[in-house]
Amino acid sequence: MTGNGHVNEWASRVAVVTGGGSGIGKAIALRLARAGAQVIAGDLRFDPAAEQPLVAARVRMVPVDVRKEADIEQLMAVSDNLGGLDLLVNSAGIVLVRQIPDVSEAEWDACLDTNLKGAFLASKHAIPRLKNRGGGSIINIASNAGLLPRAHDPVYSTSKAALIALTQCLALSHSPDRIRANAICPGPVQDTRIIDREIELAADPEDLRQRIIGASPLCRAFGRMVTPEEIAESVVFLASDAAQLITGTSLAIDGGKSLGVPPSTTSGR
Ligand code: NAD
Repeated sequence: MTGNGHVNEWASRVAVVTGGGSGIGKAIALRLARAGAQVIAGDLRFDPAAEQPLVAARVRMVPVDVRKEADIEQLMAVSDNLGGLDLLVNSAGIVLVRQIPDVSEAEWDACLDTNLKGAFLASKHAIPRLKNRGGGSIINIASNAGLLPRAHDPVYSTSKAALIALTQCLALSHSPDRIRANAICPGPVQDTRIIDREIELAADPEDLRQRIIGASPLCRAFGRMVTPEEIAESVVFLASDAAQLITGTSLAIDGGKSLGVPPSTTSGR
């Protein structure tokens, strides 16, 4: 029960969050734990700095490579020990900024295997468990790049567009089991390894930070990027009973970046 006398829907729920060791996935894991859920975070690695808040929030940390089915099976087995699974969040992901003629087969495989096959494998092993609970939710962290492809990262954009397609297929196929599937399309999100690394490696980091902000109309208007915590709030909503009939959607949380070319501050065009 909450302070208002309402039953807390999260108190009996178990969630698995891939990519839960950093950035968006970590914020989601912490937010779900704060809501009252039992949370299992899977990641390739957990940095000591990231581990501390996760430990404090009693998030279970499981080393996992989402590209490997055996690892995914072990991750899901942890939820069996907690009584079942209600929510899967696929947040593990990597970027690839390279033009197609320069992309090696190994780079293509790494990007598609992490961003797409990882979500497929986790969904495959989550679905029977969600079904056992009488329904549940899958939330895929895609990208604005999946809604509107970008010239600088064509393979990444492809992987995220395919992840949105996978989300829609999951939503259609598993509606009889009351399993909902939705995508969140973020960008640009601060305090994530993906963005921090890109900025660190730039010749002029502050110039790049401003250009990233400037490429999204509302980020430009507010002078900031999206926060991981803002993404986490929408996960809580999409996985809640309030969203019981929402499935197959792609929620852009990108300051309007996927709408098109932002207005120029100088010419107004
Ligand atoms: P991040 O690098 O901070 O977090 C990604 C996490 O995924 C890392 O902890 C990493 O170790 C983990 N990971 C990578 N490969 C893995 C694998 N094979 N197995 C298990 N874990 C693996 O970056 P983030 O921004 O928090 O990324 C989360 C998701 O959000 C990604 O899918 C990313 O594509 C997406 N996204 C991010 C942004 C952004 O601006 N940061 C924008 C749009 C979409």
